[in-house]
Order: sequence, then structure tokens, then C-alpha cells
Amino acid sequence: MAKVQLDQVRKVYPNGFVAVAGASFEVADGELLVLVGPSGCGKSTLLRMIAGLESISSGTLKIGERVVNEVAPKDRDIAMVFQSYALYPHMTVAENLAFGLKLRGHDKSAIATRVAEAAKTLELDALLDRKPAALSGGQRQRVALGRALVRQPQAFLLDEPLSNLDAKLRMSMRVEIARLHRQLGATMVYVTHDQIEAMTLGQRIVVLDKGEIQQIDTPMALYEKPANLFVATFLGSPAMNVLQGRLSAEDGLAVQLEDGSRVPLDGAKPPQAWIGRDIAVGVRPEHLRPAQHGEAGAFEAEVEVVEPVGSEVFVNLRLGRQPLIARFEPNVLPERGKPMSIAVAGERLHFFDAESGAAL
Ligand code: ATP
Repeated sequence: MAKVQLDQVRKVYPNGFVAVAGASFEVADGELLVLVGPSGCGKSTLLRMIAGLESISSGTLKIGERVVNEVAPKDRDIAMVFQSYALYPHMTVAENLAFGLKLRGHDKSAIATRVAEAAKTLELDALLDRKPAALSGGQRQRVALGRALVRQPQAFLLDEPLSNLDAKLRMSMRVEIARLHRQLGATMVYVTHDQIEAMTLGQRIVVLDKGEIQQIDTPMALYEKPANLFVATFLGSPAMNVLQGRLSAEDGLAVQLEDGSRVPLDGAKPPQAWIGRDIAVGVRPEHLRPAQHGEAGAFEAEVEVVEPVGSEVFVNLRLGRQPLIARFEPNVLPERGKPMSIAVAGERLHFFDAESGAAL
């Protein structure tokens, strides 16, 4: 296995569109790094540049100790797994697994050994004689993974490999990929638009928006210390609530919303310099809670929708024009249309520059 290093890697498409605006990061040897971002952020372009399927406009890409900018995809010693699986329909599973190795001129017995190993790892033994049409979506995806596995590459690149599967299968394949990563100690770069997949699989995550890296860190660090409003609202479901208004210190700390409503921020420690200025205050749904009777620092909001999902309850609230979503314990079932007294965990609040979105 090998590390993958990008230094100011940039992609400008022939029409002048900048899809990746200078990406620099390193995927450590054996690391599973996730590239995540909304549609069009440039994550597939970035992965395809690492694979060699897209040319690099400027910057340097290294796999292991070798600069591979000009190296053909087949000579980069990486294996890619696509969303579409890209299996050969007329070949059996065994033939699909063996194909890439045959093409590279490996001898028969070595191929048979590697195919048998991959089949065992991915539990494909019983399916080796079937054609892809006779497989389920999850089984096809395992064959696609198997094809990458037999290559024993220096790094694996995975482009939304689970997007064609239903939610339940996606979850079990996610676990399988995590297990595979551990078992192989493989260097993997994994692209997804799904923030849950990113959070659960990634040892580190690169968050991209509009071709620019927003932040690179571990899942928990991104969740707890987002660098800006984009990262703060992109990761987490339901998304972080954002209160835009003036930070006020009269009658206790509060954010004064445009419609005149006021959210007290007891216990929060915003940067002093921002008092009296426009600010964005972020509060995650799990950091709102039902207030105790007469609790200081509580505020009233109207209950609009209550969604019990068994393990927890999502409550949509409204404070003036400001919608808020809260995540409560399963036994908290407020009445729709009624006001409810809410408290915020002040020490868990996030403060952002309202204009630039940068964390303060
Ligand atoms: P998705 O999740 O929708 O696949 P993505 O984050 O993977 O999105 P890319 O496929 O990397 O996004 O595309 C990034 C941007 O580059 C998009 O705005 C896309 O329209 C643009 N783009 C892609 N290919 C070309 C091209 N050949 N010429 C010009 N622009 C392109």
C-alpha cells in the first residue's frame, strides 16, 4: 500500500470551468479518506484525476514516491470501483474477477489463487459461475469490489460505490467496506455525496464545495469544530440550526433576530468583539432541549411538527420567522400548535461571521 499526495492539484475544463481549485492533501498509507460534498463540488473530478482518467491542469500528484501526473491509468497501480459496477455482462463472476489480471498477463495459477482469495474475502464463492444478470445489486457491488481486490493495488479509489443500492443494503455494504479496509490495511479514497456515509466510513474527511476544500479533519472534529457555515450545515442530520441576527449583551447574552424575536444564549462564550454586530449562531438539533419550568434563559417557540422515529423525536419549532429543529428523547412528545419552552446548551453553540461564514 502507498500514500497518495496532492499538491495544489487543479482542474480547469477546456471550457474554462474551474472544477477543482488547487487541492492539497495527503492520504496516509492505509488510510480511508472520504471526499464529500454536494453535487457538482468537484469530488469525482478529483478522484478521476488521481485515477488518471482526467488530466491534471496543474499541481503535482504522487502515488507512493512517484509523481504520476503523466502516468497512464493502467500504470498507476491503483484500482477503481465505480457506482455503475462496470461488470462484463457476458462473463461469469469468476471471469469478471480474473479479467483484469489476464489482461496484465498474470499466469493462470496466480490468477486462480487471487480470485479464490477475493471470493472468500467477499463471500462470493457460491456465485462464481453466475453472470451479473443473475446477481442482486449488493452481490454485483461485491463483485466490483472483488475486481479491485484481485489487483492488489497500491490504493483503492471508490466513486459513490453504494449509490445504486437501497438504504438497508447500503448500510450493510458500508460495514463490509469498513471491514475490508481494516482487513487489508488498504489506502482508500472514497467519494460520496452522502454525509452519513462520509461520517461513518472516513478516518478523515475532505469536505468540498464549488471546487474548493472547505475543511479536512476527522469526522468528530468536523462535527464539533466546523471551519465555516458550509461544513457546519452540510454535516449532521437534521442540519444545524442557524440563527442570523445581532449579538446582544443587554439583559444577558442573546441573539436578536431580524423579526424582533430574541434567543437567549446563556452560558455561551462568543468572541467579545462581536457583541453588537451581525453574527450567525449555529445550534445542533440535539443541543436544544425542553426547558425546566421557570428556567432562566429559556425561550418560547411554537411546535409545528412532531416526528417520533422510535429512538428519538424530531420537533419542528418556529420562533417568529425562524424555523428550528430539535432532537429530543423519545419520551418528549410536545403538542402541535402549542408554545413550548426551550433551552439551549450555551457551551455547545457555534459562532460564525455572518458575511464570510467563517467560524469565529
Ligand atoms: P456529482 O456528485 O453530481 O457527480 P461531483 O462533485 O462529482 O458531482 P464533478 O463531476 O467532479 O462533480 O464535476 C464538478 C464540476 O465540473 C461540475 O460543475 C460539472 O458540471 C463540471 N464538469 C464536469 N465535467 C466537465 C467537462 N467535461 N467540462 C466542463 N465542466 C465539467
